[in-house]
Amino acid sequence: TDGETPPAANHQQDRLAEESNEPGDYSAGIPEFRNEPDTNPSLEANQRWAEEVVARATPEWLAQQSLPEKVAAEEVDALVEKARAAGEEWAARPAAERAAILYRAADIMAARRGHLASVAAAEVGKAVAQSDPEISEAIDFLRYYAHSALALEEVEHAEFTPDKLVMITPPWNFPLAIPTGGTAAALAAGAAVIHKPSNPTPHCSMALLECLWDAGVPREVLHGIYPDERDAGKKLISHQGVDRIILTGASETAALFRSWKPELNINAETSGKDALVITPSADRDLAVADLVYSAFGHAGQKCSAASLGILVGSVYSSERFRRQLVDAAKSLVVDWPQNLSATVGPLTELPSDKLKRALTTLEPGEEWLVEPKQLDDTGRLWSPGIKAGVKPGSFFHLTEVFGPVLGLMEAKDLETAIEYQNQTEFGLTGGIHSLETEEVAQWLENVEVGNAYVNRGITGAIVQRQPFGGWKASSVGLGSKAGGPNYVMLFGTWNDAVDPT
Ligand code: GLU
Repeated sequence: TDGETPPAANHQQDRLAEESNEPGDYSAGIPEFRNEPDTNPSLEANQRWAEEVVARATPEWLAQQSLPEKVAAEEVDALVEKARAAGEEWAARPAAERAAILYRAADIMAARRGHLASVAAAEVGKAVAQSDPEISEAIDFLRYYAHSALALEEVEHAEFTPDKLVMITPPWNFPLAIPTGGTAAALAAGAAVIHKPSNPTPHCSMALLECLWDAGVPREVLHGIYPDERDAGKKLISHQGVDRIILTGASETAALFRSWKPELNINAETSGKDALVITPSADRDLAVADLVYSAFGHAGQKCSAASLGILVGSVYSSERFRRQLVDAAKSLVVDWPQNLSATVGPLTELPSDKLKRALTTLEPGEEWLVEPKQLDDTGRLWSPGIKAGVKPGSFFHLTEVFGPVLGLMEAKDLETAIEYQNQTEFGLTGGIHSLETEEVAQWLENVEVGNAYVNRGITGAIVQRQPFGGWKASSVGLGSKAGGPNYVMLFGTWNDAVDPT
């Protein structure tokens, strides 16, 4: 076009999904941190790549991938002792060496993007479009925390003593990024790690631990294990030799862990009931797209998912807005990952009782704008549902359901909207769509969430740019945010004179 400068050729546009380069040699230092770009699906080569990713992701293929070692209760003491001793040696290495290994692990992970995406597709039915940014995030965590290791070394000797042994208990909804994040941070700080995968996702955990082992993290420092029964798990969690537990999961799990060991040193991101507020001044097209993606991406199985749309004044009563929203939800392709057009995939497990209630019943005052349907006999594939008329204080207003249901609430003004948003016990993510600066300021001033997003969806935090963490019942333990500058500093004890934040 006339006189217009063409967009600069950019790394992201040109990048192929998988570049099988050798991991770099970072012994002379690591490069400046940059976010790893996602795969650009408009390149033909990347489309072929995605087809291969899902074609090989069969149950038979998954069965050939590695599983963690089983650990019995009577083996726990020896495991802890061995890992602690290895942790001491790991911590004694220069931070630059640990950082270089983490950078190499990131390179290996980038070269195995397709493998990791296949494991996630086969193991939990995660769509490539969802696992791809997750793998970028995992790579980011490795590199970002490598930099934190260097920063920490500046103070380390005088004031900071790293944990010797950290236990990582990740969730199944982000089975690649979140387990990598906790593990990488602990290793960066100088701790040994016992990584206990989430029950539905052992293969995902092993695939990422293999990147770390292959990059040079000693096997004695990093253990991927599965307690063979509950006793072994309980013994590990409550073991005096485990200095810290990192958990992402339900609040109930954090409470259970605490009941096993009251003085537990735990940092947990636990549950959310997240809302996007839309005011009459919003760009409604953008708001609809952001609300639908935040509600139904990965079938709503994100702690950060928009479970509520709180619609202010005329937005709630607007027929046009409703039609847009309903059309957008109905146009989503719901299918297993082998269908690359699918944007909403299966649930990882059969619906919980809470989710079942949300999917199949209406509370007083509610009506379906789009009624969810079970699409096949696995019981795991559900089309998205939207219910209007969710009442303040009701089951759906206050309960995390973790699935593809969006509830709409009517608020007479912004103040009321914020009140509804803050009324839940949780405080993880939240958003506002508004083009009025005063409204945005009022919302930011009053909303009680860890991650507050303005004119953007409320999922998909980006390492360094949007450190991620909750408030209120969404967070347990001193909450430095994951992917932020202080996170690695959590993994140790500080001399009293220093304030780690
Ligand atoms: N970090 C993810 C996001 O920003 C959410 C993590 C979670 O669901 O626990 O969407």
